[in-house]
Amino acid sequence: MPPISIDVLIAGAGFSGLVLAQRLSAAGLRCAVLERRAHLGGNAYDAPDKNGVLYHHYGPHYFRTNSRAVRDYLSQFTAWQLADYRIKSHTGGRYWSFPVNLTTYEQLMGRAASEEEFAAWLESERVPCARPENSEEVILAQAGRTFYELFFKGYTLKQWARHPRDLDASVGARIPVRTTRDDHYLREEFQALPAEGFTRLFERMVEASPNLEIRLETDFLEARHQYRARHTVYTGPIDAYFGHRFGHLPYRSLRFEVESLTGDQLQERLPISGKPGHWQPALQVNYPNDEAYTRIVEIKHATGQQTPHSNIVREYPLPADATNEPYYPIPAPDTRIQYEQYRAAAALEKNTSFIGRLATYHYYNMDQVVALALKEADRLLPLLGGAHFAGSPLP
Ligand SMILES: Cc1cc2nc3c(=O)[nH]c(=O)nc-3n(C[C@H](O)[C@H](O)[C@H](O)COP(=O)(O)OP(=O)(O)OC[C@H]3O[C@@H](n4cnc5c(N)ncnc54)[C@H](O)[C@@H]3O)c2cc1C
Repeated sequence: MPPISIDVLIAGAGFSGLVLAQRLSAAGLRCAVLERRAHLGGNAYDAPDKNGVLYHHYGPHYFRTNSRAVRDYLSQFTAWQLADYRIKSHTGGRYWSFPVNLTTYEQLMGRAASEEEFAAWLESERVPCARPENSEEVILAQAGRTFYELFFKGYTLKQWARHPRDLDASVGARIPVRTTRDDHYLREEFQALPAEGFTRLFERMVEASPNLEIRLETDFLEARHQYRARHTVYTGPIDAYFGHRFGHLPYRSLRFEVESLTGDQLQERLPISGKPGHWQPALQVNYPNDEAYTRIVEIKHATGQQTPHSNIVREYPLPADATNEPYYPIPAPDTRIQYEQYRAAAALEKNTSFIGRLATYHYYNMDQVVALALKEADRLLPLLGGAHFAGSPLP
């Protein structure tokens, strides 16, 4: 069979691939998306469990953004359910208020305290560091040694299988420490989930893409030769694209253990959850020290789904390999050096864009990849003409 002529061939149907596909095809370009998995949405995919309770199949995805442009773009395809993302930590047999705030300090002291007292104590605990160069330095500088040992060190070791001092400062800097009672997990001004779930949002994006072919369960690296495209967008792991010629980039993976719970089972948990129809007292509970899993997420706290049932997902970290999906690029000096070799090779690849979390080996939140994909679409549209014309390569 001769190759099919199209304008843009896209590898991956996650946020990166689908935003580009939607934008480019809506402008009249003929696009095809090849997706290895059996569904749209990449890691943001969600679907109901056996009791009809929606959950995020690849770990919880808390959408939040400060970008009006990203919010406006996505709002074309979804209404929103405002979310209040609250989490706790569980260690030493009890739940702790988290991220660290005045209530956490009071729990530690076993008595009431003032903001001033906590601020002074924190100051004495902190290990000052003018320019933190790794996660240990940044956490010790922000949270001090006691909280570092209680909440951060064990969690990091489990999650990354690396000591915090062998990880970039950016990893530890993500979690705030406050001397007030403010226990919000995230800072962004807009925090919400798609009202009907992420998967419905992705389906609507595809419905709004007139010149788009989507092929699920199709590996780009195997099927790409069936197409003759003027441009290619690759959103998979960059080392796989180049046949791992500079070695396998290390990624962390996760095993998700889902437990579906009926309304009757949840009745017994009421003294712990404090909320009928729920299993635990917060959306997310971190387990930094005492368990093999890092966290338990009960997404119903954020979706607000009206059902007597619920579900929880335990996350067990493990290295990525041939059977375990690559989820988290490891942000560290040594992995950056290795990635640089791939980045240089990618720069020489003609008529090809490498975007998204895996293709740039960088931790991005969803709103960031949407912003980057919109920017890439804006760059490509004038080059590709946005007209129905397939066949000639880009200059
Ligand atoms: C556990 C976890 C929790 C997260 N939580 C949050 C959160 O709370 N908030 C937030 O904003 N972000 C969160 N993220 C980040 C979010 O998942 C990413 O920002 C987003 O999914 C990146 O989109 P992407 O399209 O670049 O990559 P992906 O979603 O990974 O999509 C890439 C797609 O490419 C496909 N693919 C790969 N190789 C090939 C190939 N050879 N052929 C065909 N298809 C291929 C994959 O199957 C996948 O579907 C989380 C990520 C993880 C892993």
